[in-house]
Amino acid sequence: MNAPLTVVTGGSRGIGAAVSRRLVADGHDVVIGYRSDASAAQAVATELSRSGRTVMAVRADTTDEQAVIDLFGAAAEIGIISGVVNNAGSARAVGRLADNDIETIRADLDVNLIGVITCCKYAVAAMTESGGSIVNISSAAATLGSPGMYVHYAAAKAAVDTLTVGLSKEVAAQNIRVNAVAPGIIETDFHRDRQRPQRMASSIPIGRPGVPDEIAGAVSWLLSDDARYATGTVIRVAGGM
Ligand code: NAP
Repeated sequence: MNAPLTVVTGGSRGIGAAVSRRLVADGHDVVIGYRSDASAAQAVATELSRSGRTVMAVRADTTDEQAVIDLFGAAAEIGIISGVVNNAGSARAVGRLADNDIETIRADLDVNLIGVITCCKYAVAAMTESGGSIVNISSAAATLGSPGMYVHYAAAKAAVDTLTVGLSKEVAAQNIRVNAVAPGIIETDFHRDRQRPQRMASSIPIGRPGVPDEIAGAVSWLLSDDARYATGTVIRVAGGM
């Protein structure tokens, strides 16, 4: 049997890199998408290729439809795409809504919502004949709202949860599952203030921020055959938040 082939957007750093590592350890071939940091993406791809699995890094800004088409096209040259992890995300507008400008907020919505929708559209197209599994990386912010930090980002992630539910029903008969993982506060470069995750520790029931590896297992499970009856669900991995 062929190895599963999974595309991970934003797989060069943070949660996406941890997911890529876990998927390779669990027997996947992986295509790592990234926006700008080619050396970080190539370093992950080179490290993971040593396992003997096929791992490739492809520059693909998920806000650029043609780049998304090309990302799936590059993956299709390796084999049949069975999994897609829509992980690419960022929050550039930070602080109170009234203090942020609409241009930056719009750019955040573009990557955190339109980019995910775009990738879902082409993931479904790639999976139409053979079926597959899509995992969207949401956030605990979707239900907490993130006041004072980035309410627009939280709103985008809530929309990703709704997209997950609706699309899962739309494509279930095509043997395509669509689920999401909602991390809490995870120590990555996502936080421009690198001290923020530790500062938030007292507000997290488990008492500490998470690390990327603690998200990767849930993603791998949702992509696996063990999760074959799971679709339209959002798994919260947030230390109790
Ligand atoms: P990160 O360490 O900043 O990594 C972000 C990754 O996404 C990088 O590989 C980056 O590539 C890529 N990326 C950003 N914008 C992109 C775009 N437009 N097109 C393609 N790739 C893009 O962030 P992270 O913490 O791992 O976040 C991963 C996901 O988890 C995001 O969806 C985020 O919203 C979500 N999340 C994070 C946390 C947290 O506390 N860290 C909590 C909940 C949810 P380049 O390096 O090439 O730019």
